[in-house]
Amino acid sequence: MIPGGESAELLIALIQNACVNDGTADSGGEMRSVETLTAFLGEPDWTFEPHPGRASAVWRVPGTDASAPSLMLMGHTDVVPASSEGWSVDPFAGERRDGFIWGRGAVDMLNQTATMASVFSRYHRGDAARLPGDLLFLAVADEEAGGRFGARALVDSQWEQVACDYLLTEIGTPMLDGAGGPGLPVTVAEKGPQWRRLRSVGVPGHGSQPYGTRNALVPMADALARIAATPPPASITDEWRRFVEAWDPAGGLSAELLDIDRIDTAIDRIALGDIGLARWIHACTHLTISPNTVHAGVKVNVVPDLATAEVDVRALPGQDETDVHDHFRKAIGPGFDEIDIQIVEATKANGSEPGGPLWDAIGAALATIRPEAHLIPSMIPVGTDARFFRPKGTVAYGVALFDRRVAFGDFLRMFHGHDERVSEESLQSTAELLEGTVARFGELT
Ligand SMILES: [Zn+2]
Repeated sequence: MIPGGESAELLIALIQNACVNDGTADSGGEMRSVETLTAFLGEPDWTFEPHPGRASAVWRVPGTDASAPSLMLMGHTDVVPASSEGWSVDPFAGERRDGFIWGRGAVDMLNQTATMASVFSRYHRGDAARLPGDLLFLAVADEEAGGRFGARALVDSQWEQVACDYLLTEIGTPMLDGAGGPGLPVTVAEKGPQWRRLRSVGVPGHGSQPYGTRNALVPMADALARIAATPPPASITDEWRRFVEAWDPAGGLSAELLDIDRIDTAIDRIALGDIGLARWIHACTHLTISPNTVHAGVKVNVVPDLATAEVDVRALPGQDETDVHDHFRKAIGPGFDEIDIQIVEATKANGSEPGGPLWDAIGAALATIRPEAHLIPSMIPVGTDARFFRPKGTVAYGVALFDRRVAFGDFLRMFHGHDERVSEESLQSTAELLEGTVARFGELT
């Protein structure tokens, strides 16, 4: 049994470390959290610091049987920026209030990183019997900016240090109620980030005499407006069907969510009461396209010769670069040839099958804590570090166990949002679920 306050104390320390990753190489400072975890677990077996301060660390408990599969618990230590405006508390104080711990990272994903470290420590100290296979804990840097100082680099260049057959990481979400009782979503698949940079090139001139110049901003503004006005249609994937069937929401909603002609109306209706859930359902059933940055021009009296925009595109399973390109061509229409489209990231959606020893171990652990609940294999619209491991053959899931004080949709809105918080009770139940999962995994392998 994990001591109640241990995960909470660790979480507070990780929040206070403020490993804020703004995408630049010198941000993050994840070494601070490696030091916190070293104080708790002891010296890591291996550390990786590809840029000063951007540290990841592996702790390993060797298994008893060299042929048994290994299991890794992986938690990222970086967080996205937060300005205190819009927050009810200082986002980096790690404040305890109303039974919750508040702060940036409290749900993404320092809560899980802390509980993973807490559960792992029992094996690392020898308080729990070794598993047949190796058990690893990886505190990883740079999840929030694509993993070039973290998981992506580790998998590409240091695979022997992080190789694992099974992996538990983010994301975990609260339970969903359905006709068959409460279901716990377990992340088994994720959409693919297909980020694009759009460029249009013009001919500069004096802003006082625009006649005959080519203003690079105008075709870009037109292209972005056309992209926004041409939403991709709904698509019902096998992953979505599996999720809805396991969730089985009451009142005929299942049928609507699996009907390509009715799902958009259902999403609009759900949005009236639960915008977080509506966004999730929409993202899980559509190629999403969101133009999120645009830059053009240098001065009010200079006709701009360059305009750029970054567009966050997320592809469903089965969609690839060609689908994305074809959609841009169709949406932008006659101006398509004036826009140069560069690939920033092109990762296909990926997933692991819900089945086998890790899946069964999660189910068995849940059955002892919440016997009335079942598992829901879930596809998530966001990317996680699991996407780098799955192509190596690793079976990767994300799971946690929250109390019911924050609903599914409200919980999702806390990711990168204001007032991130997690209840101490949820930390305890997540630790229990992880502890039971690791122990059962050892029995099944
Ligand atoms: Zn995360």
